[in-house]
Amino acid sequence: MMEDGTVVLQSSIEDDVAAWLFAHGLSYERQARVVHWLLDFQVGTRYIEVHGCYWHGCDCLGKPLTKEQRDRRARDARVAGHCEHRGTPLLVIWEHDIRRGDLSALQPLLQRE
Ligand SMILES: [Zn+2]
Repeated sequence: MMEDGTVVLQSSIEDDVAAWLFAHGLSYERQARVVHWLLDFQVGTRYIEVHGCYWHGCDCLGKPLTKEQRDRRARDARVAGHCEHRGTPLLVIWEHDIRRGDLSALQPLLQRE
């Protein structure tokens, strides 16, 4: 469930991240609650957000953002600000990286907490 009560299907890019975590022997929870947000993954004390380029208004789109995309980016900034304030590591990985097989944004998970 999203903040507004709608249900979104888990996307294949999230499955790619899950496969990467599994392949590296990391156990994880999906849809982890932090305050009133649901973050895509929790790995130990760390969190991962998987950002679809369209949904999260990525710069790679090269287009003006819709209101929905701007709202989502504002939400993402609030999540990041909260995690930073709380000292909770939050990794963000983008769809355009996952699609080309670059999951290096997840590398910090291979270091000890
Ligand atoms: Zn992108």
